[in-house]
Amino acid sequence: MGRSSKDKRDVYYRLAKEEGWRARSAFKLLQINDEFHLFEGVKKVVDLCAAPGSWSQVLSKKLRGDKGDVSDAKIIAVDLQAMAPIPGVVQLQGDITKVSTAQEIISHFSGDQADLVVCDGAPDVTGLHDIDEYIQAQLLLAALNITTHVLKKGGTFVAKIFRGKDVTLLYSQLKIFFPMVTVSKPRSSRDSSIEAFVVCQNYCPPEGYVPNMSNPLLDNHYDVDFNSLEGVNRVIVPFLACGDLSAYDSDKTYPLELTPGKEYQYHPPTQSPIHPPYQTACELKKKDMLSKPSSAATPTGKESAASAG
Ligand code: SAM
Repeated sequence: MGRSSKDKRDVYYRLAKEEGWRARSAFKLLQINDEFHLFEGVKKVVDLCAAPGSWSQVLSKKLRGDKGDVSDAKIIAVDLQAMAPIPGVVQLQGDITKVSTAQEIISHFSGDQADLVVCDGAPDVTGLHDIDEYIQAQLLLAALNITTHVLKKGGTFVAKIFRGKDVTLLYSQLKIFFPMVTVSKPRSSRDSSIEAFVVCQNYCPPEGYVPNMSNPLLDNHYDVDFNSLEGVNRVIVPFLACGDLSAYDSDKTYPLELTPGKEYQYHPPTQSPIHPPYQTACELKKKDMLSKPSSAATPTGKESAASAG
């Protein structure tokens, strides 16, 4: 496969490199912002599950200017993975399911709370849809839990969600904390993907709510079929396609020369991950040392691995 083949297939992948974003996801946050003006008046923001950092780049650019030094807006990025530095962004390598991470975030805000929390978190996808949807839901709830520790009343929470069959349960849970919940689908998010983003506005926890890290999906009393709920018990969340609708369609293939007369130029990725978990596998693959699937004619998996090592 040539170096330009992904550039050809995916216009947002190509534009991200041309414009210096670390991932094509940058366009998703930009397009959500086009619709919701998320950054107006924002001084403190948390980017959960931030690596490799394209959302943090957007936050830094929008809140602190091109070089990250125009304002004193505080941006805190959290991820399990290490991230290369971004001007004006404080990075915490940590787990969003841990209360200690919430405490660390607050300590960087000198005890204050955030105006905005964003989360583009995704677990490693298994390809088994039910499991992927379930794990994504768990991550969203973890993001909601940590948000209840760090977000100020009236603040906004934006998070990736998979619109799977139990998504109404998640909407109901979000509506407990936010009177306004909208599902948005940026143009840069493929139609073929069940991914969308919830934009939850005007944080208002129930009276007496004490932030904690427990997971309501795993609590027994939540063990009901939420799809069977009706009337006022069923929460309907509006769905909105967002961003400029004349923007590129992420499911379409575009010619490599987008600007007439401007020759296509290949750009390497803006910032490769620093210690990705798949690094060893990539190095072995380059040297053709990855064990091949075993068959009757080839050695067993164990023997292949031994000969590869
Ligand atoms: N928004 C990022 C960007 O624009 O570059 C891309 C985020 S990537 C799709 C999903 C990230 O979620 C991964 O970097 C992964 O390490 C992170 N993640 C998954 N589970 C996490 C957890 N429990 N705590 C912190 N980060 C987590």
